[in-house]
Parts: sequence; C-alpha cells; structure tokens
Amino acid sequence: MESVSETRVTFLGTSTALPDIGSDTASFLINEKYLVDTGWSLINNLRNCDIDPLQIEYLFFTHMHHDHYLSLPSLFFYFLMKRKDLKDLKIIGPADDVERIVTLALNFLQKEVFYSDKSFPTIIPLSPGDNYDHELFHLTTCDTIHPVQGLCYRFTDKRTGKCFSFTGDSAYYPKIAEHVKGSSFLIHEASLGPIHADPSTNHALHSGALDAALIAESAQVGKLYLVHGALSRKEECVQAASQIYKGTVEWPEDGQTIVL
Ligand SMILES: [Zn+2]
Ligand SMILES: [Zn+2]
Repeated sequence: MESVSETRVTFLGTSTALPDIGSDTASFLINEKYLVDTGWSLINNLRNCDIDPLQIEYLFFTHMHHDHYLSLPSLFFYFLMKRKDLKDLKIIGPADDVERIVTLALNFLQKEVFYSDKSFPTIIPLSPGDNYDHELFHLTTCDTIHPVQGLCYRFTDKRTGKCFSFTGDSAYYPKIAEHVKGSSFLIHEASLGPIHADPSTNHALHSGALDAALIAESAQVGKLYLVHGALSRKEECVQAASQIYKGTVEWPEDGQTIVL
C-alpha cells in the first residue's frame, strides 16, 4: 500500500450542464487517479491542472446524462493515441446504462475499424446499494432521484481513513442524508439556484442550494461544497445554504484542490 497522509480532491469543473465560459460541467478527480464524471473538455481540464490523463485508473460515473460523459470518447482516444491499453481503465457506473454508453463511445471512435486489436475497458456496473472494495479505497452507493438511474457515492480512502460523499444529480432526497452521514464533506449539486425546488414543477429532478443544505445539516457532514449550477449565482447559493447548514459552505473554483 502507498504510505501517504492526504486525500486530495481536484475540481475540474463546477458548471451546470451547459458550461460557463472558462469553466466546465461538474467533474472532479480524487488523488490524481480516480475521476468522477468527465464534463465536456476533460483532456484539457486535466492538462491545465498538470495531470497526465494516462494517470486515470478509475472513472466513476454518477449517472449517464450527456454532460457527465461527453468526454469519454476523448479519454479513450487519448489512451489509444498514447498506446495505453484500455483495459487498464476501470469504469464504474450505474448498471442500467454504463455498459451501453461505453460501447457507444467506442463505436463513435470506430474501434472495430481502427482499433480492433485493442481490448475493451473494464466495466464495473453497480446498482444503487452496491458496494465496491479496492485495496486503496471503498465505495458505498445509494440511489438518487433523477430521470435516469443515479449513484450517490461515499468514498473512503483506506490509506488515510478519510471519507467524503458526492451526490451526482438528484432532487432533494432525505435518504442521501442517511447514506452520507458523518462524511468529512459532501459535494452536492445545486442546479436550480438558491432555492428549495418545488416538487410540483421540478420535472428535471435537480436540487436547489437550500435542498443541498438540508441534506448537509441532517447528515452532519463536516463541510458542504455546492457544484453543478450557473456560476453567476454561486455567491447567492452559498449565502442561501449557509442559512440552513451550520457548517462551512463553499462553491469551489475550477482547478481547486482540497485536502482532507
Ligand atoms: Zn448534470
Ligand atoms: Zn443528470
């Protein structure tokens, strides 16, 4: 096992589905080698943070909506151009959709025409409630409320014993608070701005910052990071959430690394 004392999370983007100029859709990297969602411009996002895309060992998908997987073909293409075997890349995602989207991404790259001799990435489908255990980390999951199957993840770094959680996209869902209870921090989406979502009109099934704050307060997490919203409203979101959640609320910067 590696002997290190830190767990690090680097935000590659915090924007909503259509990224703001100079930002990207919410995605982040754990310990420089576990990627969570891809955003639109993954390869450049990583290189701008001085991270070689070939370092990525695992890709965790929160769910398979386009803004969360658009860069998957680019990542595969980067590996292929650099002659790195795709089977070195392990992809964890919702059982309903992950294998189909990975196959579509490889078809888009015309794998059978140009790379027929190359292997497939290793796909690890998870259903909500499934766990995944690795020598260096442990994942637990619960479901979300969203139009496609989603996984809210709790990630424990076995090297440091630290754990944190991230929701992906979800409407307000008290079960998430149970799942993430006691995490060092929670990364919660706040697509709908500084509000509580009205369930009668929340057809896209996202959260507002006040919904995220209720989850964070109920779960007694150490800190709340809001992501996946219009950056023009991030200060309003932080202020609104701070009225409900007693801990510290932040909207991270693109490229920012937090250390647990
Ligand atoms: Zn999204
Ligand atoms: Zn979504």
